[in-house]
Amino acid sequence: MSATATRVLVLNSGSSSVKYQLLDMTDAESIGGSAAGRLAVGLVERIGEETSRLVHTPLAAGGEKRETEGPIADHEAALKAVAKELAADGLGLDSPELAAIGHRVVHGGLKFTEPTVIDEAVLTEIERLVPVAPLHNPANITGIRTARALRPDLPQVAVFDTAFHTTMPEYAARYAIDVATADAHRIRRYGFHGTSHAYVSRKTAALLGKAPEEVNVIVLHLGNGASASAVRGGRCVDTSMGLTPLEGLVMGTRSGDIDPAVTFHLKRVAGMDEDEVDTLLNKKSGLIGLCGDNDMREIRRRIDEGDERAQLAFDIYIHRLKKYIGAYSAVLGRVDAVAFTAGVGENAAPVREAAVAGLEEMGMAVDASLNALRSEEPRLISPDYARVAVAVVPTDEELEIAQQTYALVNA
Ligand code: AMP
Repeated sequence: MSATATRVLVLNSGSSSVKYQLLDMTDAESIGGSAAGRLAVGLVERIGEETSRLVHTPLAAGGEKRETEGPIADHEAALKAVAKELAADGLGLDSPELAAIGHRVVHGGLKFTEPTVIDEAVLTEIERLVPVAPLHNPANITGIRTARALRPDLPQVAVFDTAFHTTMPEYAARYAIDVATADAHRIRRYGFHGTSHAYVSRKTAALLGKAPEEVNVIVLHLGNGASASAVRGGRCVDTSMGLTPLEGLVMGTRSGDIDPAVTFHLKRVAGMDEDEVDTLLNKKSGLIGLCGDNDMREIRRRIDEGDERAQLAFDIYIHRLKKYIGAYSAVLGRVDAVAFTAGVGENAAPVREAAVAGLEEMGMAVDASLNALRSEEPRLISPDYARVAVAVVPTDEELEIAQQTYALVNA
């Protein structure tokens, strides 16, 4: 790597989309929460369709958003289109200033506990995990292979969604099923959204003026996907997502926790096959299954108009959230902070208010006027007297991936 190479390209490759950010890591601390250091951001969506779309915002070059529509056949074509957009602003992939490419990889199993420089052996191992992450790892692998073909000489780093959770004790990670069967099929709690839980728990400690080792935090990552984690002294000790991102909280389209016997019932009694059950629980459940909407803004609007289905969906969502706050308070013993993050957690004040309502005996409360303030910055929303800090801490998974990537290639 050249001494002047300070940029990291972060790629998040989904099945039909690629999200990307180019960051300059010269002063990484200044990047969080602001556009400083963030040179370009963008998204290619509907890859493989006639109506693919590339939205590119060159923040370093004035920030004028550019949109291109038209067929983009596959991930290779998508990355080439991204490279062309970056090159148009003098930020091309061939730039000597590019230090590395950081890839978000959803499932790292038990093997990958740290960000890892990618070689063929690492790719083979990520491929071996496809059976436990059939929806995510194949797209991540395609993104990696394509980027490696474009810049074979450049270090490429995999940052795993599961890595932060590999510190969970065995009694939290292991399901209470037959050990031989579980081990043969690698069935256990892995947890996801790890880069977000890592970033937010660290930022929450900083907000309290403490080192991560000194604080116990419950992180509530509430986006379209949602997960909770219990973080003791900077290390994850439990998390709500499991073998797959289906377990745990009520999400936009996923059921979260459910009696597994429901799946047998759907097969035996309702006559559904595995794929139909999978689609029902992952895509047609959660908020959208309960009330027809998965956007919390729309649900709140309907509640304000007196819509009872929307109200019930909201109440179920909050009830589950409260159960996890209670469970993780017991797991941690002492809670210093509860941190809300991601689309819903950062923006939906009524969710934060309702989730913490009635928890005064547990030292948790929300101040209505602090909760109503909107900001991009990490902030406390609990009253001074509350024993537990309740905070809103905007997540930044791209920055976390870039920082981990940059640290590794400079190590
Ligand atoms: P994420 O997956 O983190 O991007 O979060 C996306 C979700 O955040 C959306 O589906 C909405 O439910 C929610 N969201 C985004 N903005 C708002 C807002 N202003 N108020 C309430 N919910 C929001």
